[in-house]
Amino acid sequence: MKTSIVGYPRVGSLRELKFASEKYFRKEITETKLQKTAKALRLENLKAQKESGLDFIPSNDFSFYDGILDTAFLLNAVPKRYTSLGLSHLDTYFAAARGYQGENGDVKALAMKKWFNTNYHYMVTEIDDNTEIRLADDKPFTLYQEAQTAGVKTKPVIIGAYTFLKLARYTGKKTAADFVSDTAKAYTEILNKFDSLGAEWIQIDEPCLVMDMTADDIDIFKQLYTEILKSKGSVKLLLQTYFGDVRDCYQNICKLDFDGIALDFIEGKQSLNLIKENGFPQDKILFAGLVNGKNIWRNNYCNTLSVLSELKKSCGEIVLNTSCSLLHVPYTTKNETKLSSETLSYFAFAEEKLTELAELKEIFSSENPIENEKYIRNRQLFSAPRRGGVNPAVQEETAQLTDADFIRLPEFAEREKIQKARLKLPLFPTTTIGSFPQTAEVRANRAAFRKGEISAEQYEDFNKKQIAECVALQEKLGLDVLVHGEFERNDMVEYFGEYLDGYVFTEKAWVQSYGTRCVKPPIVWGDVSRAKPMTVKWSVYAQSLTEKPMKGMLTGPVTILNWSFPREDISLKESAYQIALAIRKEVLDLEANGISIIQVDEAALREKLPLRKSDWKKDYLDWAIPAFRLVHSGVKPETQIHTHMCYSEFADIIQDIYNMEADVITFEASRSDLTILDALKKNHFRTEVGPGVYDIHSPRVPSKEEIKTAIRKMLDRIPAEKLWVNPDCGLKTRGNAETVPSLENLVNAALEVRNENL
Ligand code: GLN
Ligand code: ZN
Repeated sequence: MKTSIVGYPRVGSLRELKFASEKYFRKEITETKLQKTAKALRLENLKAQKESGLDFIPSNDFSFYDGILDTAFLLNAVPKRYTSLGLSHLDTYFAAARGYQGENGDVKALAMKKWFNTNYHYMVTEIDDNTEIRLADDKPFTLYQEAQTAGVKTKPVIIGAYTFLKLARYTGKKTAADFVSDTAKAYTEILNKFDSLGAEWIQIDEPCLVMDMTADDIDIFKQLYTEILKSKGSVKLLLQTYFGDVRDCYQNICKLDFDGIALDFIEGKQSLNLIKENGFPQDKILFAGLVNGKNIWRNNYCNTLSVLSELKKSCGEIVLNTSCSLLHVPYTTKNETKLSSETLSYFAFAEEKLTELAELKEIFSSENPIENEKYIRNRQLFSAPRRGGVNPAVQEETAQLTDADFIRLPEFAEREKIQKARLKLPLFPTTTIGSFPQTAEVRANRAAFRKGEISAEQYEDFNKKQIAECVALQEKLGLDVLVHGEFERNDMVEYFGEYLDGYVFTEKAWVQSYGTRCVKPPIVWGDVSRAKPMTVKWSVYAQSLTEKPMKGMLTGPVTILNWSFPREDISLKESAYQIALAIRKEVLDLEANGISIIQVDEAALREKLPLRKSDWKKDYLDWAIPAFRLVHSGVKPETQIHTHMCYSEFADIIQDIYNMEADVITFEASRSDLTILDALKKNHFRTEVGPGVYDIHSPRVPSKEEIKTAIRKMLDRIPAEKLWVNPDCGLKTRGNAETVPSLENLVNAALEVRNENL
């Protein structure tokens, strides 16, 4: 049995590419220097892969920013506004990725979107009626040759024609169907070129095949590949799918002339069944994605081997593969100095996954697999619970939950009345989403405390001073519901993770989120519980400084879980309920300490919505929404529960958002697109709403008039007594220079519209 991976991380194990790119952006190094760093990282990856014994080594999985953007350049689908800047090739590329402002012009970046159900983001290709799809770049060939020169024969990786066309945005009249013929031609040319370079296999990534497909989609897919496969020459084509199963097109795929088909058996719940029920073409090789490319836990060899034996019954040759690119996991556990070797032995980051592939290959090929020493060692890892992983009290608590624990009483209309009477807020109450600017001082104070340079007392005194200034500022501005400013938080998930038992943290385990931005998700190690109060002290102190309501500020269980590496030994639902119970204790503590409004952020609720609509409820919403309710179902009717979401695309889950039973929801609403408000109206949405009246992602100060216009537009669609006025997200990334005048305008706009409506 041979082994393969779909792709490898590329930012460098110590984020070398990120730092070099950022230096290049600041004009501190030349392009030659940046290219040198990139090449060194690529060669390092190839070396690690080759030494591990990996059979199919990818090339062209490298990117300076994003693989879809690379494909747009490869296929000449780059908007004129970038190519006409007259910049070098690399700078044109970065202009499309990040926008450009300088001597040659002023253009915004391409739009960015979440890559399927991951935390990675890709750049959206823009295609207009004049776009001429053709082969226009040689990066994949250069990288293939670079590897060849280094003595490594690779399997070049290209984003597939279907996924490329499917994910593009069409700005003119033409649609994907109009570009099928040119795109097929370009891919044929790519294959022929690789053929002439001597490549044996080409991997074509088609993750869009795991989404719901219409008859038209299937048509486009068939047309593209019938054409492409017709003249592929002697190269072998591997159709690579990931992030799910291909239930809508399995039969079509099998009929086409691919040489290999790669399926995901980790997230593809139906993959095994599809093969069992329909068989697998004997003339093709199955690349079985059995090593999880998205999570960091060690592979369970026993399970993997049993699926492999099952597959053996229907398939000819099988290659052991990762379920998706290793881009979504960190590089290596070797750089972790704080976690014990015992803890680390449970983790497999990219490099350790290479070892797993090699071990599985050895075990599977041995006469007596279960006597293999590596197999036995792996079995031991899974035979007993992880140290610190089990907390019987937590398990009992979740086991004893009853339906009543998920129900907030009394019902909304009654709560609303009680809260209005208690809080006595004016019409269009003004508030913010929680954080205030994290100045260099604030960050330096946190860092100094972390490094032990200042005492806990000094640290707290500094934060209290910040809170006091923040409260005074909000009072001066005339905001109605105040916040403490979140100066103690590095990150909305990491902060809570550090207070929760059951979490562990890494030091260098970075994963690319987009471009040069990386995140370091915490790891859910075991049963989660609240070790001690997490925010009460800050909120109570802030409340002591004002007569106005001070909003308590927490992150919700679904967001905490979605931005962590989750456990694989219990369900996501179980983990979510455990986290919910921990946050619930904090909510009740805040309430008991006199906090009358509590916001539980679910910034990432939508992120892990399954890729297929038919799976939304049963696989996700049916536990995610109850988990949120569990957090606040225990509060008194007079305590007002807010939630916040960093997006407004929830028209399709509007009922579920309502079922969260929050009293107020704030969300992003861009000035131009208020369609979500129409949807709220149509669905008789009862929750009070604060659609952001200005965009905090830009340093621009919105004028009072502009905000008034936004509020009036909202009033066309939302009853006055339901409307809140707030920015569209937290202010932590902004400076005070723009925050103060922006909020001033916001408060004044609300005041004036209020007067018009009295
Ligand atoms: N309360 C958080 C803040 O204001 C919310 C952040 C977010 O929505 N991403 O920073
Ligand atoms: Zn937000």
